[in-house]
Amino acid sequence: MSRIDLHTHSNASDGSDSPGEIVKKAVAANLSAVALTDHDTVGGIPEFLDAAKAFPDLEAIPGVEISTVFGNREMHIVGLFLNASNEILTAFLEEMRNNRKIRNEAIRIKLNSLGYPLSYDHPDLAAAGDTASIGRPHFARALMTSYGFSSIQTVFDKLLKRGCPAYVQRVLPDPIRAFEAIHASGGITVWAHPIYRQRNERAWARRIMKRFTPLGLDAVEGFYSLFGPGETQMITELAEIYGLAVSGGSDYHGENSPNIKIGVGAGKLCVPAELLPHLKGISKNKISRSTDLQIQ
Ligand code: AMP
Ligand code: MN
Ligand code: MN
Ligand code: MN
Repeated sequence: MSRIDLHTHSNASDGSDSPGEIVKKAVAANLSAVALTDHDTVGGIPEFLDAAKAFPDLEAIPGVEISTVFGNREMHIVGLFLNASNEILTAFLEEMRNNRKIRNEAIRIKLNSLGYPLSYDHPDLAAAGDTASIGRPHFARALMTSYGFSSIQTVFDKLLKRGCPAYVQRVLPDPIRAFEAIHASGGITVWAHPIYRQRNERAWARRIMKRFTPLGLDAVEGFYSLFGPGETQMITELAEIYGLAVSGGSDYHGENSPNIKIGVGAGKLCVPAELLPHLKGISKNKISRSTDLQIQ
């Protein structure tokens, strides 16, 4: 059975591979489709689509991942099949990136007062391209290189995780704003990594699906690197109840999460290609609906 991966990050956000390398690794992993879903940016999409032209058997899907907040919890929304040059989407992402830039400066100031001064010229921060593209993994790598931390995870656990001394909360939008921006660009919306494994979160997942399906949520990730068969079954059942499609992906970040590989996650992930026609069907309906609206 052929497999797909609809959640990956390149060095346009906090992954370590270029968009072209993502394409090559997807081909090497025998995937029939791969989506590039960088945080708050579609900057890697042109290179990604260009690189994929050399591999007609691989479907390259333009995507994005947007962090949003509901209650006191983050909800990450992946957009798939979008038009990366749509102006409503790019203006929205610009706003997200500006909030990220402000948050990054606040982290830098905190690190400075904690005794870990870093400049944006540091190679691990400069690797992001610009300060709006820096994510916490870039800070973690810079602290590892310059201050002797043993791993990215150690830096997160000591400094960067929520509740730690250098953590700064970023201003995040309501999920509905992310739905609107993604739909405006012809894309579909996916609730990414809906639950944490090892916790009983059925009630939470139910509540979110019930609330957000009528408000523009199209799909949910039922297949994810950190899920076992129990999580996949639970999410798939709930998706069916609420009329959501099922998506899935590894959340690949290259060397920034070394245990996760493209297409296979931590080893056991297998996102079936059979999910794709349903997801694409939603996408086509959205496009014809937005065309209807323009004609009226
Ligand atoms: P940011 O969007 O800049 O706040 O960074 C969030 C990113 O950091 C996530 O997308 C993950 O790649 C990574 N991350 C978040 N929490 C952790 C954690 N506890 N341990 C390691 N990496 C994390
Ligand atoms: Mn990330
Ligand atoms: Mn996420
Ligand atoms: Mn992700």
